[in-house]
Parts: sequence; C-alpha cells; structure tokens
Amino acid sequence: MTDWFNEGDLVAVLTTQPLDRPLDYKAPEGGCWSGAFVEVPLGPRKVLGVVWGPGKGDFDRSRIRSVTRVLNVAPMQPSMSDFIIKAADYTLTPLPAMLRLATRAPGLGDAPSMRHVYRLGEGEVGRMTPARQRVLSVLEDFGGLSFTLKELADAADVTSSVVKGLVKLGAVAEVQTPRDTPFPRLDPNLPGKTLSEDQTKAVSSLKEGMAEQTYQTTLLKGVTGSGKTEVYLEAVAACLKNGRQALVLLPEIALTAEFLTRVEARFGAKPAEWHSGVTMTERRRTWKMVGEGHAQLVVGARSALFLPFQDLGLIVVDEEHDTSYKQEDGVLYNARDMSVLRGNLEAAQVILASATPSLESWSNAEAGKYQRLDLTTRFGVATLPDLRAIDMRAEDLPGGRWISPSLRQEVENRLALGEQSLLFINRRGYAPVTLCRACGNQIGCDQCDARMVEHRFQKRLMCHQCGETKPIPKVCPNCEAEDRLSAVGPGVERLTEEAVALFPDARVATLSSDHYGSARALKEQIEALAAGEADVIIGTQLVAKGHNFPLLTLVGVIDADLSLHGSDLRAAERTFQLMRQVAGRAGRADKKGVAFLQTHQPEHPVIRAILSGDEEGFWAAEASERQMAGMPPYGRMAGIILSSPDLQEVFDLGTAMSRNTGPLGQIGAQVFGPAPAPIARIRGRHRVRLLVKAAKSAPIQVAIAAWVAQFKIPNQLRLSIDIDPQSFY
Ligand code: ADP
Ligand code: ZN
Repeated sequence: MTDWFNEGDLVAVLTTQPLDRPLDYKAPEGGCWSGAFVEVPLGPRKVLGVVWGPGKGDFDRSRIRSVTRVLNVAPMQPSMSDFIIKAADYTLTPLPAMLRLATRAPGLGDAPSMRHVYRLGEGEVGRMTPARQRVLSVLEDFGGLSFTLKELADAADVTSSVVKGLVKLGAVAEVQTPRDTPFPRLDPNLPGKTLSEDQTKAVSSLKEGMAEQTYQTTLLKGVTGSGKTEVYLEAVAACLKNGRQALVLLPEIALTAEFLTRVEARFGAKPAEWHSGVTMTERRRTWKMVGEGHAQLVVGARSALFLPFQDLGLIVVDEEHDTSYKQEDGVLYNARDMSVLRGNLEAAQVILASATPSLESWSNAEAGKYQRLDLTTRFGVATLPDLRAIDMRAEDLPGGRWISPSLRQEVENRLALGEQSLLFINRRGYAPVTLCRACGNQIGCDQCDARMVEHRFQKRLMCHQCGETKPIPKVCPNCEAEDRLSAVGPGVERLTEEAVALFPDARVATLSSDHYGSARALKEQIEALAAGEADVIIGTQLVAKGHNFPLLTLVGVIDADLSLHGSDLRAAERTFQLMRQVAGRAGRADKKGVAFLQTHQPEHPVIRAILSGDEEGFWAAEASERQMAGMPPYGRMAGIILSSPDLQEVFDLGTAMSRNTGPLGQIGAQVFGPAPAPIARIRGRHRVRLLVKAAKSAPIQVAIAAWVAQFKIPNQLRLSIDIDPQSFY
C-alpha cells in the first residue's frame, strides 16, 4: 500500500470500533497515504484507525468528515495488513478486533512525551563535596550517556537534591528528550559459545534459510538442556546481521528474566520486552520503536506477534507445545499457528522449539511441511534422567497421604547427599474438593458450575473458573452441621504440609503462581530455589516450563494419572509432554537425575511410552489413532460456544443451529451437540457447545460464517467460534 492521497481525496479508514467495514473520510491537510495510522471523528468521539485504501464513495459526499490527523508513528506495513486480514479470516474474528490486538499500546496518538535527562554541564561547581564529586565522575565516566534523575542519583549514590543543586550551578545540564527512545543496539558480532557437533549442524542449516531471506518453518527438537536456546540465539544473530528484526515468544513471563540475561551476555544489550508485566509507557515505546526498526529483538508473550515490525526476519516460538500460546478469550487464536502465517507473509524464518512438540508440529514435520532439526544430546555431561514408575497399587499408604514410602525413601537419600528434590503436582491450592462429612455436600461456586478449591495459604476458598473467593465456612452451607467440612484430595499446599511433616529437617519450599504477588517476586523465588535455597521443592506445572534447576537430581511426580483422564482429545499428548518436561528438570548439571512417576496404571500406553523414552513410537501411535478418528491434526474442528444468563435461550439457538446445518452440510462437515459445555456455567452464564468436524481440506471458516449468519442472535447471548480448539471447557 503506497498510494498517496491529496487533501480532500476520499480514503477508507479501518478503525478499532466494531463496525462491519472501513468508513470513508476525506484526507486531511497535507494528505495521507495507505497504511498511515490516523485519528478520525466517529460520532462525538475520536478513534484510532488505519488508512486502508481509496474510499468507496458510496456515501453522501457532503456528509463525509475529514481525517483529524495523521499520527506520528510508522505506517502499517503491507505485510502487516495482509497478516491481520488473513488472521481475521482464519479465526473468524472481525477485522476491527484484529486491529485492536495490533494496536494494544496506550497513547499512540499522544504528542511524544518528554522527560528530563542529565548530562555534564559547563558551569562551575563552586564548593566541591565528595557527593558532588561522585556525580561528576559518573557523568565523566559515561560520557555520551544520558541519565534520568533517579539513575544518576543511584549511580553516584547521592540524593536527588545533590543533583538538583548541581543543575542550579550549571555544572550538570538538565535537557528534555523524547521518552520513546530507541532500544540499545544489539551486537550480533560478539562471539557466541563454541557449539557441539549437532548444535553446529542445526545452526548452519538455520543460517542457510536465513541467508535466503525466504519463509521456512523449522521444528527444533531437543531434550531440555540440549542447547535449543543456544542454537536459536545463533539464528537471531544471523537475522540481526541481515539487518532484519527478530521475535522470540516465550510461554511464561517468569522465563523472560533468564532469557534477557542470556541475550545480554550474547549481544551486549537487553532486547525489548512485551508482556503483561511491562509498564504502559514502556509498551508504547516498544510498539513505536518496533515500527521504526529501532528495536532489533523483541522477547514477549503471544500478543507480541501483533507488533508492527518493520522488517521481521525471524520468529522463534519456544516451548511451542505450550497451551498458553492459545488465547482462550477475546480473539481466539493460536500464536504458534499465527507465527507460521506471519512468517510466511514476511518471508521470515520460523523456529518452533520444544523437547516435546505438539502432534500438529510433529506431523507437519513428518509430512515435510516443516524442516526438522534434532539435538540429540544434552549439552556437556548432563544426561536425561532415568524414568521409573512407582506402582501405587503396591504401596502401603494411608488415606489423605500422597508421598509413597518408596518415594519418601528416595527423597531421604537425596537429603543425605545434600541434593535437591522436586515433588510435582499439577494442582494449585490445598485440596480440590471441600466436602461436608455430614451431608456429602461439596462446596461449589455460586456463579459457576465448578467446585471451590481450598487455598489454605490465603485462608479462602477459590473458584478456579472465575476467580471468586470466599472465606472457608465453619458450618456446611447445605446442612448447617458445624465443623464437618473436610478437605479431599491433594493440592500443592497440602503436599507441602505432608513433606514438612515427613522431612522435618529439610528446607521445603512451594512454587505455585498463587503465592507470589508479581512476576518479579515469582522470578526471584525461582532463582533462589534454583540456586539451592531449598532441599525439597513442591511445585505445580510452573516448574515444568523451561527453568534450569542445576542442583536437582530427583523428581517425584505425585499423580501421573491425573491428566490422563478427562474428556480432552489431547489428554494423552499433554500427559506425555508434561511428564517429560518435568522429568527434564532433573540432572541438568553434572549429576544424573532420576524421575519417579507415581501411578496406578503403569501398563497404560502413555505411561509406558514415557518410561521407555520411545517418543517417536508414542507420536506414531497417537497420530494413527487420531488419523483413524479423523481428529486434528488430520481433520478440522471448530467449537461453538453459546452463552447467556438464560438457559432456555442457549439451548433453543443451539438446537436450531444443529437442525439447520445448510452450508456445513455442503462441505461434508458434521455438527455435534448442542450439549452443556464441560463447565456448564461460568459467572452466571449458561454455556452450551456445538462441535463442528470436517475433513482437513474443507473450507471450514467460510462454511461456518455462512451457517452462523442464518440465525438471529438474541441480545444477551454471546456466540464465540473457536477454530482448532485446544481445550474443551
Ligand atoms: P534448552 O534450551 O534446550 O533447554 P539451553 O540452550 O538452555 O538448552 O542449554 C542448556 C545449558 O547448557 C545452558 O546453561 C547453556 O548455556 C548451556 N550450553 C548449551 N550449549 C552450550 C555450548 N555450546 N557451550 C556452552 N554452554 C552451552
Ligand atoms: Zn466461579
């Protein structure tokens, strides 16, 4: 889009408002061009938009208003508008909602805000004091740099009034600069680590792709600790050398800190960050600088994929199997799949890294759509832990206890050696069920069809669906019996209690997202634990995600059966991934680790595949099962969720939709349901789901759009469409 429009020409502007088409406006004084970000009047308001092309001219010209102004930000690249159009089509999301996702930074229209920075001035100091001397030496030592007041005062170890005093004397100059400044340059020519043989092979293959500057997706598979991060950092280096930008997506904010440190060590400066922990001003800076090409590398959460890169040459999706890449509310998209789309449109390389790839990526590699690179050995002396089952049927364990005698013995052995153990349970809180022993009532959430989970740490019951909490009652809300409520089943807090009792001399620490107010506190805790601040770590799946625990030699999975059950199509795959990821935490440094899986069904195919380490065997078996059932990734699925405070209304519409499948019938798709969703009520809204299943090649989006358009949707009813659903709740 390079069209130029003179003042008064008609232009179409796509706004972030929920309208079904771009609106016509007149180009402002000075003209504008396709892709320009603009502010336009809409009713009484001013809204953000993008010039989408020439106006349509189907509206009374005398009533058309003018674009208010062109914003001082880089225009949208043609590849970016292509991307949001295609992503909108794929996910059946209205284009304005996609544009909103692509402009999630506050104050893009504001005049660039200024801030004060401090440099060496010309004036005389007058009376020199040690404090004043320190300020001046800091400024002399770092000649070209500008400091904020706080940075300068901290660096010189003085109060800000000392600096202010020097400003008055003119010895320090106070200057105004724009707040949104470029990110420090990364130097891709700094030396990297000496690579092992298979690392070298992987890197040179990735560099070839990088040199051609064409699209390609690579599945980079290697056990935890095999050096995947090292390898893709070399790809980042090659990308930066080409003068193109790179994006690294991580599944968990807690992981970014470690990654930032590694980037700084490799390239001499920190990259830009984009996730929910970043301040609003910093978000705006990042958004703008990415657009101007002044941020070479961005590390972030899934929504970073919608940043306005000027020239994106590489996208890395680390831990690509992670479920957090799927956005589960608002715009329902999978950042992994959308990365491949964007890479395609940007002629960029895409690297999907994982120790345990998703079946989708595995089968795309099998089919030759993705290149596959394997790192087969752990770096250095670290080896994969041994994996063993503890058959819980043979263990003598009283009710209400979860650590088997065998596992207890193993932990005690580590304690004697001064080594670390991790006990893993994928359940937050104290206990999943609070049961009244008098009447059998289980305490549920008033708003949702879900049980309340006891969180003893916070002394409250919490609904994991809506986040609602209430105090732990003394009497049963059903039968009013006093003191008969009891906790049933294990959660991470309860396991901690048990471990403290079993290992009285050990330092026991809990790692669960509930216990930390902020990402920073959590990160600090992870680092402290990794550095050896605990002997026994009790953790939820938080620990499964990529962090290094070098002192860990034992992992005990408390309930390996927990995630095998459930109605989820991907239950086996998830269990396999999770167990292998957790097991991968052990034995990272020079000590070999062991992982024990407590299970009631050691002969279950998934448990057997985990234990034997026969990954390819597992994938092949899982793939052929899905293939036979026509399930993803060998067939297409879409979930339709209808929700409303009125139960009758959702069922009526659901029934009508299942009876009149018209356009879906034409592509040979089947419709299942309506059925109550597995969680039938959330925040007071009743939920009903329909499932659409079609052949892989069927144009499912077009057909669904036509199908849905046949029905009148009542006002308070929400209909959401989930293409390639990941979870079925
Ligand atoms: P992964 O991403 O596969 O989990 P990492 O890249 O984090 O693996 O590597 C694991 C550890 O081994 C890290 O501490 C990393 O710095 C180190 N490492 C990997 N490759 C090398 C290498 N070629 N030289 C030195 N250290 C390496
Ligand atoms: Zn609830």
